[in-house]
Amino acid sequence: MTTTWVDGFGRTIDYVRISVTDRCDFRCIYCMSEEMTFLPRQRILTLEEIFRCAQLFVANGVKKIRLTGGEPLVRKGIVGLCEKISALPGLRELVMTTNGSQLTRYAKPLAQAGVKRLNISLDTLCPERFRALTRVGDLHQVLAGIDAALEAGFEAVKINSVILNGHNEDEVLRLTEFAVSKGLDISFIEEMPLGHVGRSRARSLFRSDQVRALLEQQYQLLPSSESSGGPARYMHLQDYPQTRIGFISPHSNNFCSTCNRVRLTAEGRLLLCLGNEDDLDMRALLRRHPLDDEPLLEAVKKALKYKPERHNFSADGEVQIVRFMNASGG
Ligand code: SAM
Ligand code: SF4
Repeated sequence: MTTTWVDGFGRTIDYVRISVTDRCDFRCIYCMSEEMTFLPRQRILTLEEIFRCAQLFVANGVKKIRLTGGEPLVRKGIVGLCEKISALPGLRELVMTTNGSQLTRYAKPLAQAGVKRLNISLDTLCPERFRALTRVGDLHQVLAGIDAALEAGFEAVKINSVILNGHNEDEVLRLTEFAVSKGLDISFIEEMPLGHVGRSRARSLFRSDQVRALLEQQYQLLPSSESSGGPARYMHLQDYPQTRIGFISPHSNNFCSTCNRVRLTAEGRLLLCLGNEDDLDMRALLRRHPLDDEPLLEAVKKALKYKPERHNFSADGEVQIVRFMNASGG
């Protein structure tokens, strides 16, 4: 008999995002504040603990795992972890979100380790602006990483672009042209108010309908009922069938009713919703019961009954959740 997890609102939970580290080689202005303190090593789940959680999830009906962070490729041993997780019987796909900075080195090993798809973050094609948005990043390194990913044989590579009013909204068409030229999908993400980043999030909010209006100046958008099992709504471009446009719109199009996912943070909190603080301390359970999964399983099942119905991001985009995205597993 196959097991599935169902939450208190009847939603099947078959997707887990695992943050393998809160650390990152970038400091994106929407994700982190300029000065960040990262977790000490002993508070982070070990690779063995992460794998034990993955085993438990997959044995209970989880079909898709996304490894994220922080930047997953700064975690030592990441390729070996991918190999072990992707081999779990019952898992449909292991995927990853990365900033792309290390893909020239890691794209091939990741594909060989069973990672099926990659989401690569890219918010601008202007090198100076890239440096400003990431505070430290090098655009050329990431573009080379995207090319390496395209050569490595993943089933799909997608671009994720967070669009911020006054920072990069004038690049929506250029980023789309880039995706079209490479035959990639691209998703435009509304900024989420996670953590205080030293500026008004309300002022930089650029909504998906505004992105769509810009796209319609150049492209004919066709509706699509496709889903990649995540929060994006997709559209097709009339003349470029190889590129889909995704919209991730926590503000303008609440996606909570179809939410199928939970997140495991780098320190082992099982977050039931990105926009709420309800969680389960998996690290304490893992360390208290090193050889017996039963108490963990019981605790997860009980916690899922309390998964909130929806996130609480305010309409004006200001912060209510003090946890940063890198600590949440975006
Ligand atoms: N470091 C990797 C990366 O940047 O792709 C993975 C982790 S990052 C937290 C995951 C995704 O979350 C990225 O696409 C990033 O652009 C997005 N993100 C980060 N902070 C965000 C925020 N406040 N609102 C919306 N998206 C955010
Ligand atoms: Fe790092 Fe990704 Fe956050 Fe940027 S969005 S600071 S790359 S974790």
